[in-house]
Amino acid sequence: MATSVRAVFARGTNFRPLKRLFTTGIYSRATANFRLEPYELTHESIFTEEHAELRTSLNKLIEKEINPFVDEWENAKGFPAHELFKKLGSAGFFGVNKPTKYGGLGLDYSFSVAMAEELGSIKCGGVPMAIGVQADMATPALIRFGSEELKQQFLVPTIAGDYVACLGVSEPGAGSDVASIKTIAVKKGDDYVINGSKLWITSGLQADWICLLANTSEGPPHKNKSLICVPLNLPGVQRARKISKLGMHSSDTAELFFEDVQVPQSYRIGQEGMGFSYQMMQFVEERVFAGASVLLCMERLINDTATYCRERKAFGKSILDNQCVHFRLAELQTEVELLRSLIYRTTDLYMKGKDVNKLASMLKLKAGRLAREVPDSCLQFWGGMGFTSEVEVSRAYRDNRLLSIGGGADEVMLSIICKYMGTFPRDQTLF
Ligand SMILES: Cc1cc2nc3c(=O)[nH]c(=O)nc-3n(C[C@H](O)[C@H](O)[C@H](O)COP(=O)(O)OP(=O)(O)OC[C@H]3O[C@@H](n4cnc5c(N)ncnc54)[C@H](O)[C@@H]3O)c2cc1C
Repeated sequence: MATSVRAVFARGTNFRPLKRLFTTGIYSRATANFRLEPYELTHESIFTEEHAELRTSLNKLIEKEINPFVDEWENAKGFPAHELFKKLGSAGFFGVNKPTKYGGLGLDYSFSVAMAEELGSIKCGGVPMAIGVQADMATPALIRFGSEELKQQFLVPTIAGDYVACLGVSEPGAGSDVASIKTIAVKKGDDYVINGSKLWITSGLQADWICLLANTSEGPPHKNKSLICVPLNLPGVQRARKISKLGMHSSDTAELFFEDVQVPQSYRIGQEGMGFSYQMMQFVEERVFAGASVLLCMERLINDTATYCRERKAFGKSILDNQCVHFRLAELQTEVELLRSLIYRTTDLYMKGKDVNKLASMLKLKAGRLAREVPDSCLQFWGGMGFTSEVEVSRAYRDNRLLSIGGGADEVMLSIICKYMGTFPRDQTLF
């Protein structure tokens, strides 16, 4: 395992036992620092002692640099991305599975999944989402298909945490239907001139560059697009607005406009016309990352709910002692374990070079639905307390709602699965 992560963080475990904090008055509040012990991790087929070590290092950084500030960032509707990403980048977390020649740790993809899972220790959804965009969503195509010049210019500073990256696919008129985006990049001499807009862009207000999907020619919509690295400090780029949202408050979500923005054609990633295919490939990693990153959150909610319900009494007994409560929590934990198995299996097959599009769509679908079901069920058992901003379950209830929409809605996942099952109507197009 690369030494840079080790060098930054001292060895040793950082696991704290479940602890309860009780506030004054009638409310009691439970918090848990729930996570798997390294011993259990190494029993997973895809994980080793080194994965446990990476996760322990990341957990230490989360407990020191992120969790103490999450409430403040949620209230401020944003977090200082450059400041935090420099810390994560210096520790190696933006280059876990990236080549060492670009500053990465050179580890395999399973370490990236281990990292995604550990990000679930963060007590909100917004910060892990922005970290995921930087680590695993804006750069996979650049690494595989980008020129050396492009990697030096955009990848190296992104891995180091000097640049904040974002991904620009969705537009006001095209989200699920990626093929129908309208942003165009027209050739002018050695340059592209870009016009159009992008909507819902995570970290869009703070980002230094965007991995932008644009139409670069006429022709069939799956063969006329390219991914282009676009610096966001160029004339003609307008960061129009920060979008107010139901959840994910700590993440900035922007609408961006591009008016005659000029970049060299050499900023295009790989072959012209391959952008749609490259983006579909990027989506696979995005979906695995998104699924893995909610596992610990869901387990923490189940654990915290059990703790709270054990303390809380109604009708002369602990709420947890009602069979409908402890059985429901057991059902939810079982579902989480099933999702975990699917994520690990998909990871294993992906590393073996198999087409995991179907499995990645299945896990994203399941993760999206379960990430809604767990907070909803748990919140019920917290009663009125669950409806307040005092407890994590209400934040998760809001934040996790996004997973069934972002990165491909549940219905898009179902359509992909149907395509692989041969049940998708032949006269309809999906991609
Ligand atoms: C907080 C947040 C952050 C985001 N971050 C990014 C980002 O960083 N970069 C980026 O490019 N995008 C980002 N997105 C956009 C996100 O990926 C899209 O919202 C998503 O793909 C859905 O697109 P849409 O919102 O246009 O929904 P639409 O395409 O309008 O679809 C609306 C609904 O219609 C239904 N539907 C759509 N297609 C079908 C179908 N074929 N069959 C049946 N039902 C269907 C689904 O229920 C879907 O939810 C973000 C979104 C949010 C809310």
